[in-house]
Amino acid sequence: MEKGVQIYEGKAKKVYATDDPNLLIVSYKDDATAFNGLKRGTIKGKGAINNRMSNALMHMLENSGIPTHCVEELSERDTLVKRVEIVPLEVIVRNLSAGSFSKRYGVKEGIAFSSPTVEFSYKNDSLGDPLLNEYHALALGLATREEIKEIKRLAFQINEKLKEFWSSCGVTLVDFKLEFGRLADGSIVLADEISPDTCRLWDSATGEKLDKDRFRRDLGGVEDAYREIMARLEQQMEAAE
Ligand code: 5GP
Repeated sequence: MEKGVQIYEGKAKKVYATDDPNLLIVSYKDDATAFNGLKRGTIKGKGAINNRMSNALMHMLENSGIPTHCVEELSERDTLVKRVEIVPLEVIVRNLSAGSFSKRYGVKEGIAFSSPTVEFSYKNDSLGDPLLNEYHALALGLATREEIKEIKRLAFQINEKLKEFWSSCGVTLVDFKLEFGRLADGSIVLADEISPDTCRLWDSATGEKLDKDRFRRDLGGVEDAYREIMARLEQQMEAAE
C-alpha cells in the first residue's frame, strides 16, 4: 500500500490517503510538543517506538475483543489504519493521582485510587482541550448517549488489559489518554495511539518515570526512558510467545 496525498499533519503524526478510501497511512514523527504546543522539541527515535508500541498494544487489545483502527504495520514509522471520523473527546483514564488531576484537586501524585476514574476533554486545541462532562458532550453534539456509554465501557476494559500487561513488565500504568473513532457503519473503535506520549508509566519498584513527563518536566533521559519502556514491552511480548 502506497502513501497518497497528505491529508493531515498533527503534532506527532502525519496522515496520508491511500488507494482505498477506507484506509489511511499514519506516519509517526519524532516531534514532541507539550502544554498545547507551547513547548516543542524532538525525541530521537520516538516515532519508531510509538508506532511499534501502539501497534503491539492495539494488537493485544484486538485479541481480547476490543475493536481498534489498526490494520497493518507497514514500516518502522508507518501503519495502515481504518479511516475513522474521530470523536472529538480525549478520554482519560486514571489509576493513580498525577498531572492535571493532582493540580486541580490539590493532592500529591501517586495516590492509588480504589477504582479507576474516567474523564473527558473537548479535543479542541484553540480552547486548550477543556475538561467537560457527558452532558456538555451531548449538548455540543460531540457524541450520542449510546456512543458515550460504549466509549466508557471500552475505556475501562482497555484499562484492565493494559494495567495487567504493564504490571507484568514491572510498570505501573498511572493514567492515559484514548481517542475513539466512528467507522463508516457508525461503530466505535479505538483510534489514535497508545504510547509513552499518551500514558504515564512508572517503574513499579523505583517510581522512575518512563514516559513523556520526562520531556514535559525537563527531567532529562527522555530518549533512554522511551527505549527502556519499549525494551520492557518487547521482552514481555517475547516471553509470552
Ligand atoms: P493530565 O490530564 O494529567 O495532563 O494527563 C492525563 C494523561 O493523559 C497522561 O497520561 C497524558 O499523557 C495523557 N494526555 C492528556 N492530554 C493529552 C494530550 O493532549 N496529548 C497527549 N499526548 N497525551 C495527553
